Amino acid sequence: MNKKIYIRTFGCQMNIRDSEFVMGILLERGFEKANSAENADVILFNSCSVRKHAEDRLFSNISGLKDLKKKRSNIIIGLIGCTAQNYKEGVFSKVPMVDFACGSGNITDLPEIIKDVLKNRCPIVAADKVNEKRKELFPKYRNGNFKTHVSISEGCDNFCSYCVVPYVRGRERSRRQKDIIEEVEDLANRGFREITLLGQNVNSYRDSPLRGQSLCRNDFVKLLENINKIDGIKRIRFMTSHPKDASPDLFKAMKNMDKVCEHLHLPLQSGSTRILQLMNRGYTAKRYARLVDSFRKFIPHGSVTTDMIIGFPSETENDFQKTMTLMNEIKFDSAFTFKYSPRPPAKSAELKDDVLQEIKDDRLKALINLQEKISQKRNEPLQGKVLEILVDGRNKKSPTTLTGRTRTNKTVVFEGNKKLIGKFVDVIIESVTPHALKGRMV
Ligand code: SF4
Repeated sequence: MNKKIYIRTFGCQMNIRDSEFVMGILLERGFEKANSAENADVILFNSCSVRKHAEDRLFSNISGLKDLKKKRSNIIIGLIGCTAQNYKEGVFSKVPMVDFACGSGNITDLPEIIKDVLKNRCPIVAADKVNEKRKELFPKYRNGNFKTHVSISEGCDNFCSYCVVPYVRGRERSRRQKDIIEEVEDLANRGFREITLLGQNVNSYRDSPLRGQSLCRNDFVKLLENINKIDGIKRIRFMTSHPKDASPDLFKAMKNMDKVCEHLHLPLQSGSTRILQLMNRGYTAKRYARLVDSFRKFIPHGSVTTDMIIGFPSETENDFQKTMTLMNEIKFDSAFTFKYSPRPPAKSAELKDDVLQEIKDDRLKALINLQEKISQKRNEPLQGKVLEILVDGRNKKSPTTLTGRTRTNKTVVFEGNKKLIGKFVDVIIESVTPHALKGRMV
């Protein structure tokens, strides 16, 4: 099977990891990797359906292949992941040039599905395994060679009212700690130095209860402690934490694990407890603020980042001002901010999307402005400090500069030779912006 595969990914780290996983299983089954869509026999689109914007971009990108498909009618186009799971047969009416749709739970069947489509040339939908635990056949293939992601669980049980994840990725299934440890040990032996543990809600990670052991609230802490012991790994990150389940026990443990980076990504979503209740988030604005206080008590120099949704149904000016006030009090290092859009079958799609677009735009703008000022202030004390960074690539805007990340996950830009990519270096910070630190190597 020497057919060439090209994968385009839209969405979050989970999707990036899924695409890597898919490429891995296909390479192990004799497919080859194409360096562009034009050179591929099979083009796969892997997309997240959490935000409407990402989905719109996906459909317009697929439609953009119309001419290529006309020129090379034997090319196969497949949609995989959350959007395929959500739309199933509906994919073919949205984007008729798609040959098959394969949901998140079925991606381990992709080699067979692709062979079937290549042979029989008829549309296929595979989306029946949304709640099935993925087999432990994790392929060795990785996109890079010094930092990577490791899945610790799939799916989610939280059913936040705006979110489609529990519907498209199924209920939460944790991988066994033993399998995760083996995977990280193998990565360490192959030279990987930084890993990011991925789960929709890492705090509810549970080691397999199948061996008769009792469920333990701190399984995630135990997992971190065991990974912290693995030689070769120098940095451990994790995402995403859920404020409903994150606890001071985790922050206290983080303080004592030298490889666990001092960064907490903790989605707040709204500063109004009324809106949080409508979102079914399971915490109040007050509890959230207390959690951040607790993190900063244990890890005073740590960074805290968040996600925010603006314009959830019925959000009033008063609700929005509560969000602004809380953002001002907490002072996040950075925030990903989004405008609400209904995502059926998530529950909130039944509510009236009644905040006007102009109001959403104005609120989003105000929130971004506020956060930029806060980010600038959070970064200023770092001027003059020497920070260890892991160099991760060239700066796209200037070929002679490199970029890297601090342990607190801040981007650092500095002059350097590309041979440093993948290495740890010390950089003195000379100036800062809200989005990056600029410095020089010492
Ligand atoms: S915790 Fe909520 S927002 Fe996050 S994946 Fe689960 S349902 Fe979606």
